Amino acid sequence: MTTRLYYTDAYQDRFTSTVTAVADGGRRIYLRATSFYPASGGQPSDTGVLGGAAVADVVDEGERVAHVLAAPAELEPGSEVEGRIDWERRYDHMQQHTGQHLLSAVFEELYGAHTVSVHFGAESSTLDLAGWAAEPAALPVAERRANSLVWENRPVRVSFEEAAEAAGLRKASARAGELRIVSIEGLDRSACGGTHVRATGEIGAVLLRRVERVRGDTRVEFVCGGRAVARARGDYDALARTAQLFSAPLEDVPALVAAQREQAREAQLECKRLEGELVAYRARELYDRSAPDAAGVRCILDRRPTGTVDELRVLAQALTALPRVRLVAAVEAPPTLLLAASDDAGVDAGAELRRAVTAVGGRGGGSPRLAQGSVPDVAALEQALRALGC
Ligand SMILES: [Zn+2]
Repeated sequence: MTTRLYYTDAYQDRFTSTVTAVADGGRRIYLRATSFYPASGGQPSDTGVLGGAAVADVVDEGERVAHVLAAPAELEPGSEVEGRIDWERRYDHMQQHTGQHLLSAVFEELYGAHTVSVHFGAESSTLDLAGWAAEPAALPVAERRANSLVWENRPVRVSFEEAAEAAGLRKASARAGELRIVSIEGLDRSACGGTHVRATGEIGAVLLRRVERVRGDTRVEFVCGGRAVARARGDYDALARTAQLFSAPLEDVPALVAAQREQAREAQLECKRLEGELVAYRARELYDRSAPDAAGVRCILDRRPTGTVDELRVLAQALTALPRVRLVAAVEAPPTLLLAASDDAGVDAGAELRRAVTAVGGRGGGSPRLAQGSVPDVAALEQALRALGC
């Protein structure tokens, strides 16, 4: 049985204890008492140093707490060791965790929204509120309320009470026997085994961020304390860099981005229109430069080392709008063929192309006016081109 020092003092970042057992070739250490918090209830485990060795993970095994070392250490059962937890990491978790209690109580108080699950991530944390559809206006209200409770600096206390007698819990506990209850004065009582700050003032700023619907619940992302400051700094820097690009004040950025998007959309449409015009001119030029055969049909050959059939299609459409013409187009990589014919060219492009490509082990087809196909290699492409004869 490991005595959990963090149950009664979350601020004890150094301690001395006795090694009770060593397992896994010196990697897994058990102590009589520990300040190391094992991953539990959504809160990640502590890291730190134990007897000079780095603690990579801390595991709750029920009765005992296992300290998993990054590398095996020479720690003997019965020996005294000093433990030191990574305080910056722990305190950050204490801020996020107590912030979560505060926010869960605020959502309950303002909207009757129950917290059904929480997650503490490396960047941000989330809480899921059951069956509550957040109105956009609801979030700033909850954020203001949470921060005003921070400013009131209400005490956060830990008590141990019999489950049968513990009244007024935000969420009923399924556990029997003694419960560890974390209370925010005048606001919230929750059964919890985690680590918390001693007054709401230490939570620091509370920022609500993204909100999303997850299977009928509402997931609210939040950051507290040092993370909130770091996040706000990151947001400001990103926005300031964007504003600098526009040489404009921060507040003008959303309108400027929207206006630029609209301009880009219009420019794209104009570009497309001009491309169409250009292709029509190019088609006319190719048409005028080619001579009609004995039957009065012009054949135009377009051969490219690389490209896509889509690029060729635009030319094919422009060209076949002209009278008595066929277009044979080829791309070498990947080996592709396109055949197009105007209505009055006396050609069934689909049938002619299919014949040419299947004869060389390729495949393809299309309508009487436009057909395309692929062949295995460049040699087959040459063969098919000869068959199409242009
Ligand atoms: Zn808690």
